[in-house]
Amino acid sequence: MFSNMHTQSVQELHFCQQGSLNAVVAIHNLRLGPALGGCRFIEYDSDLAAIEDAMRLAKGMSYKAALARVPQGGGKSVIMKPKGEFDREALFKQFGQFIQSLGGRYITAMDSGTNVSDMDILRSQTTFVSSSSNIGDPSPTTAHGMFLGIETAVRFLMNQSLKGITVAIQGLGHVGFSLAAQLHEAGCHLIVSDMDREKTQLAERSFSAKVVAVNEIYKQTCDVFSPCGLGGVLNDQTINQLNCKIVAGCANNQLSHDGIAQSLHEMEILYAPDYVINSGGLIFASSSYRGLAAKEIEREVNKLKDTLNKVFTLSKQKNMSTNFIANSMAEQILYGDMASQNWIMEAV
Ligand code: NAD
Repeated sequence: MFSNMHTQSVQELHFCQQGSLNAVVAIHNLRLGPALGGCRFIEYDSDLAAIEDAMRLAKGMSYKAALARVPQGGGKSVIMKPKGEFDREALFKQFGQFIQSLGGRYITAMDSGTNVSDMDILRSQTTFVSSSSNIGDPSPTTAHGMFLGIETAVRFLMNQSLKGITVAIQGLGHVGFSLAAQLHEAGCHLIVSDMDREKTQLAERSFSAKVVAVNEIYKQTCDVFSPCGLGGVLNDQTINQLNCKIVAGCANNQLSHDGIAQSLHEMEILYAPDYVINSGGLIFASSSYRGLAAKEIEREVNKLKDTLNKVFTLSKQKNMSTNFIANSMAEQILYGDMASQNWIMEAV
């Protein structure tokens, strides 16, 4: 356990076992402020799988917060979904009391398997929750950040605006559909895929999008491929099908392993690191929790353009993958000068 924590640089693990509640909170780093990250509520095969998921996700949140310049550390919680019958309200009430007992070192939010009603139950037990029915859905802000990020990548690589650009979007969910609407408005051609036919038909009608089968999306000739469905979709097989200049999507952990970032770099495909381009959601959650007004939130989201430009520029100058550059910048912010070189120190 401790060597796993050491490998991921996770500072704290907190456990709660009460009735049917088996939960873990992983806190990766508190240097920038209280840890903020969603609560995942899914079934796991083992306790260890749940703990490892929480640690991995908490680390991701630290890096995301560091580059988004929000005053939050990285944390994530996992509730192991009980197999069989359980009382959801009672379970989330207990979890809320557990979060409260941590005294604010960790602020929770929505994630896979949790919804706004769960957050409202948590809110009845703790103040340390950043999504609920009175804060709202972060997805439109994530989608807007994505739009700005794609615009930045296209400007950087192709030196042109979005008008006439072809974007292939995988997944038309809360973020993907809203992104499609904004890209259509900006004059982009859209190619879309989703297993939900209602969503693709709506995109076809609303944005004149070309609809392709789920496994056909990778090989579409386009300027930008935008994975907005699930993580892990860019792997050793799928990247060989790509026929695009830029990869820029919101799906968390879209690279199946770190080597994919280097492969994309060698293929001269510009990759916008997922946790930088999708940070609008975290900026929304953190800013709303801290009571910032909509205008201030927009100003914060706009900053991701500068961060991406720095990442792209350094990647080109140093001939290193964009993911490596982004990680090095985040580590410099999180750990001071322990991890890096002068040019990274200057970049942050
Ligand atoms: P969502 O569940 O609303 O939508 C996902 C969509 O992708 C669904 O329509 C689903 O049918 C589709 N999909 C899944 N796998 C697919 C595949 N292989 N091919 C085609 N379509 C597929 O989710 P969302 O809130 O839009 O988030 C999308 C991704 O972005 C997730 O990975 C999420 O973790 C990440 N993310 C979301 C936010 C946010 O604010 N919602 C913020 C940061 C990151």
